[in-house]
Order: sequence, then structure tokens, then C-alpha cells
Amino acid sequence: MRYAILSDVHANLEALEAVLSDLRLRNIDKILFLGDAVGYGPNPNECVEILKDCSAVMLAGNHDHAVVGLTSIEYFNDYASFGVEWTQSVLTPENFEFLKSLKPSSVLESDDIFIVHSTPKEPEEWHYLLSLWDADVNFRYFQQKVCFLGHSHRSAIIEQPESGEMVTYKQGTDLKAGNRYIVNAGSVGQPRDGDPRACYAIITDGKVEFIRVKYDIEKTQEKMRNAGLPAPLIERLAKGA
Ligand code: ZN
Repeated sequence: MRYAILSDVHANLEALEAVLSDLRLRNIDKILFLGDAVGYGPNPNECVEILKDCSAVMLAGNHDHAVVGLTSIEYFNDYASFGVEWTQSVLTPENFEFLKSLKPSSVLESDDIFIVHSTPKEPEEWHYLLSLWDADVNFRYFQQKVCFLGHSHRSAIIEQPESGEMVTYKQGTDLKAGNRYIVNAGSVGQPRDGDPRACYAIITDGKVEFIRVKYDIEKTQEKMRNAGLPAPLIERLAKGA
């Protein structure tokens, strides 16, 4: 099975459409979406509807859960909270109910894959997996060979050999027999690793790699300005920060 793994679209329609055009050229069988369809960006309804149609499995992220009242925005910063409240003001009742129905993790048994928005250990606590120490703990909380996650908006592959030290890869790697992997798929709609291009991951023929795709950032920014979204959220898209 050849999967494309998308995460953290954050209502950025131009980024999502660019990624979908790119992956159509790559002979992908199925799309997995790891959560945060909405929040920050100007097109929440369009992004929810497209992702609903194209994803084989679609998870909830913390922003999705916050918008539908399943997670408190107490720990969100001011801009993220503003984005949640703005999204609530424009989201259709159908999309609200659909986001409410999504789960934060899932298992693809036949492909030996676990997917989650935040961490395998506590999917609904919305912790970040940022260090090898975090990874070491979290490898104990799923049984499959590969775990794909999102949430930090920073792509990376962490490899846990049968014995010895963990290794990280930035671009991609072959999946080795006996080893296990945690893969952060990065973010389609708001990358934070200094590269403003949309990011997604593919797993094909025993190999994981990240794909970066250019999109019309200025068009998204213009829509955000017109929607009255906060300037720092608009500016960060061009910086990939
Ligand atoms: Zn996110």
C-alpha cells in the first residue's frame, strides 16, 4: 500500500490543493490525515470537506477538538484562541458535527501502522513529541512498526533499532527489518521548520520520505487579512515559522 500522510492543514486551502495536485502524480493509493483540519487559516469549511472526501482515515487534532468544544482553549495562546473563535463563527453545522465525530488516533492493522495527532502515550493530552527522550517513552505505547504523528509542524523520522541508539532522519529513509519508527509528517498548512513550503510524507515500498510543495502563500495571506485574522498568523506563513 502506498500512503500519503497529511497533517495540520489548518484551513489553508491553497496549501492543501497544492499538496493534493502533487500527490496525484505519485501513484498513491490512500491518504491519511492526522488532524488539525482547521484553526489559524481562512478556509475551514473547504478544507474539512475536501479532507473528508479524500482521506481513507481522518483524525482529530487539538484545534479541531477546541473548535467543537471537546478541548479547552485555556492552554492556547491568544492568536490560536482567536483562530478557534473565528473558526467557530464560520463553520457550518454539518462540518461542526463531522469534526466532533473524529478520533485522535487509529490503527491500520494490515499495514502495521499507528496514527495519532499528538502522542501515542496520551493522544488527548495534546503533548508534543520533540526529543529522543519523548520518543523513547512513546515507542512503548504502540505495537506497530511505524507511528505517524503531527502536531509540532516539524517533519522528522526517528528510528529505534532492535538494539543501540535511536537515529533521526530529516529527508527520508528505508524502513529496516526489525526496527521501529516514529514519523512526524510535518504540516501542510503552517510549517514551522523554516521552510514555508507545504510538507507531507509518503510511505511507499518500504520507504518513508517527505515532500515539499510550493503554494500561493500570498493568496492565503490576502484571505486572512480580509477575514481579520491576526497579523502574526499571516506573517508566519511566509517564514515557515
Ligand atoms: Zn497543528
